Amino acid sequence: MKPLGSIPPGYLAGPNGRLRIGGEDVEALVARAGDTPLFVYDLGLIRARIARLRAAMPAGLGVHYAVKANPLPALAAAMRPLVDGFDVASGGELGVALAAGMPAERISFAGPGKRQAEIDAAVAAGATLNVESESEAERALDAGVRLGKTPRLAVRVNPSFELKGSGMRMGGGAKPFGVDAARAPALVRRIVAAGADYRGLHIYAGSQALDAGAIIEAQAAAVALARSIALDSGSAAPLVNLGGGFGVPYFAGDADLDVEAIGAALAVEIAGEEPGHAIELGRWMVAEAGVYLTRIVDRKESMRRIFLVTDGGLHHQLAASGNFGTVVRRNYPVAIATRFDAAPDEEASIVGCLCTPLDRLADDAMLPRAETGDLVAVFMAGAYGASASPAGFLGHAPAPELIVVGDGGGA
Ligand code: PLP
Repeated sequence: MKPLGSIPPGYLAGPNGRLRIGGEDVEALVARAGDTPLFVYDLGLIRARIARLRAAMPAGLGVHYAVKANPLPALAAAMRPLVDGFDVASGGELGVALAAGMPAERISFAGPGKRQAEIDAAVAAGATLNVESESEAERALDAGVRLGKTPRLAVRVNPSFELKGSGMRMGGGAKPFGVDAARAPALVRRIVAAGADYRGLHIYAGSQALDAGAIIEAQAAAVALARSIALDSGSAAPLVNLGGGFGVPYFAGDADLDVEAIGAALAVEIAGEEPGHAIELGRWMVAEAGVYLTRIVDRKESMRRIFLVTDGGLHHQLAASGNFGTVVRRNYPVAIATRFDAAPDEEASIVGCLCTPLDRLADDAMLPRAETGDLVAVFMAGAYGASASPAGFLGHAPAPELIVVGDGGGA
């Protein structure tokens, strides 16, 4: 038997024993989508989450949403009034952010390998480019001249420290992201001398950390680094984006991140500092609010082990299969949605419909006995789900994505 991750707060069974999402019965949601599989996002849970974050963080701290976590246009539009800015990672996401109504001056565009057309689009729109190299800065300056626009430029710094314990380290050594901290002051000077609108610094050290202490340490190091770059370059950074890295509990034994402790420490760290500060979070805002629903189309036995075969799989929800940045496969929080109030009484594996052994949604899990026709819920599907999965693989249809609005209870 392998443990399942803990089901996030805010999900309850209705009187019929079936899971409700945002107050709606799962079968009603399937009927609304037309068929399984589908994703459902509860905006009520996202709102409650962001309210908790705002209450925890120091007043005046910018709270930005990293659109890559879930770029569904309707979700981005719903997120716009809840946050102070959007961080985008491609020309496509820039389009989503602008279409969502986020003012260009509150959009920043980070990511290595920006194509000239993407740089031009950002400069033309008036979004901030977080430049990742000296050569990219030159391309952005040229774009400004060519388009007759003053480019808004920030410098992404590759910090010499990493975010300890993070699932994805993006600092602390040679990296394709940002310019090495030692070269940042010269690049700031070049940007200012060229007459660009210098917007500040972007220091992103990693993702998916669950240890508040590690985040507190990385934020303090980022504040200090920004201070020293400002001093060495002779230009105060109008905005210091301290990155994010706030993790969410996917697996058994993971604990909820103590954002209140992070906020209290950050308030002390930036008290009396001149420039504005911001954090950018993706999964922390949206992961727990999403559920992937898929139907069991076969129940079979092989060598006394039970396999529940679903009509969904890794083509929609790659991360739950363990093939999106994890070394050892562990079970996400998964449940039989149509028997949500039933006690587990059988060990079974839930697999997808793709003919590859990689397509697993739960391995050797204790679940209520389920039959063909039951619905499976895969939780933590609000971030890096639909858009981070190989939807074209094996020619299955994409999964529709629904937004519901619950009362936010339990977040
Ligand atoms: N910002 C940058 C620059 C990133 O690289 C990432 C993730 O890789 C994020 C934001 C979002 O990370 P998360 O969803 O873990 O908050």
